[in-house]
Amino acid sequence: MSYEVVIGLEVHVELHTQSKLFCACPNRFVPDPNVNTCSVCLGFPGALPRLNSEAVSLALLASLALNCEIASISYFDRKNYFYPDMPKGYQISQYFEPIGRNGHIDIEDDRGELKRICIGRVHMEEDAGKLVHSLAGDASMVDYNRAGVPLIEIVTEPDLRSSGEARRYLEKLKGILEYVRVSDCKMEEGSLRCDANISLRPMGSTILGSKTELKNMNSFKAVEKSLEHEIRRQKKILDSGSHVITQTLRWDDNSQQTIAMRGKLQAHDYRCFTDPELAPIELTEAEIEKARSSLPEMAEARACRFVKEYGLPDYDARVLTASRSMADYFENCLKLYDNPKLVSNWVMGELTARLNSTGLDIEQCAFLPDHLAELLNMVDENVISGKIAKDVLDKSFEKGKSPRQVVEDEGLLQISDQSELETVIDVVIAGNPESVDNYLGGKTKAIGFLVGQVMKETRGKANPQLVNELLVKKLQEQQSQH
Ligand SMILES: [Zn+2]
Repeated sequence: MSYEVVIGLEVHVELHTQSKLFCACPNRFVPDPNVNTCSVCLGFPGALPRLNSEAVSLALLASLALNCEIASISYFDRKNYFYPDMPKGYQISQYFEPIGRNGHIDIEDDRGELKRICIGRVHMEEDAGKLVHSLAGDASMVDYNRAGVPLIEIVTEPDLRSSGEARRYLEKLKGILEYVRVSDCKMEEGSLRCDANISLRPMGSTILGSKTELKNMNSFKAVEKSLEHEIRRQKKILDSGSHVITQTLRWDDNSQQTIAMRGKLQAHDYRCFTDPELAPIELTEAEIEKARSSLPEMAEARACRFVKEYGLPDYDARVLTASRSMADYFENCLKLYDNPKLVSNWVMGELTARLNSTGLDIEQCAFLPDHLAELLNMVDENVISGKIAKDVLDKSFEKGKSPRQVVEDEGLLQISDQSELETVIDVVIAGNPESVDNYLGGKTKAIGFLVGQVMKETRGKANPQLVNELLVKKLQEQQSQH
């Protein structure tokens, strides 16, 4: 039988605030356990939570960027269950009235057509601590540094129809959240986490089948793989005439399969009620509009502008705007060096290659936009050759020195001095009689080899154009002597 796949995603994103959601503890990763803790986030009796307004601002920005309707009043609720990494015995979340509702993101479906994915809700909540299990397997330790870190949970309607759509949705979502700078969205560090609800139903049916929940997927690739695995597993069960058991499954990256964790709890199992210790979040129309007007130009709009304003190919515009930092870098460089396509080539090519090989983000890199502009200007001014420029980039990137400084320190100035070059050329001509004969015999291509030899002798520093001119002149002189 053929089935329709129904997927909904729940994404948890850590907000990039200074402090935690309900106390003044720093919201920062530290290797030592239980350092960023206090009586509030450790759940001591009598300790009172106080809401972090920065977290509300970021949650509001994210909700607006995801096209949500914003609640003028939203509440915090207690979701009651015991787990060792949550010392209060409940998690503070927004269950009844979330800050954002009815948003959407547009993605490409499997046929490449535009498809709208509805976002049912965006709500705020606190993160739990972390359990660390000993290698011997005889002890578990708990670290509360993460307890109380502000999160938003972004929940889609069951609108996704394949693992590919799920991956594209996540990529788009991550891009949007990075653009509005609410989170660094590093999936490998847990600041973006994804759970998936998945079920199958006979093609044409409108009734949802029983679903399973997939957890513990720590990369987009793992999400796609585990969904594909789960689709195959459920199909096999349904084909055999059995029923899929509603349960929570964990994706195991090592064995590349899903492992059952527990029967899935229903919402009413959590005995949710509004937290009596926290006032509601009230947002006026003016506050919401102010936040809306502070949203940055988003990736798609920016890519269109890059094509129109700078005449860049569509591909370049998309690559450059995929990250806000890279788009900023590009535009900052253009202010000092007005050749968009050339700057684009260097950013997408040489610079990106170095970022990839060092694992650095563009905002961490010491090679600044004005360094790139300086480098390109030096090539134009014939101070250095295009080939040397790449070595200068390497050194400048590594040491954070300006390209001019590198050229000075390393003695990489281009040799454009005629007599200095003629000396080298004479040596090369004397040392390569065969190539000279070839050239004089009409094989003009032989000049390329001779230019190469001069470049080699000068360790790439010779001005290649000038070398070419001088060589031709010298060889013609030889010819007339014969
Ligand atoms: Zn605290």
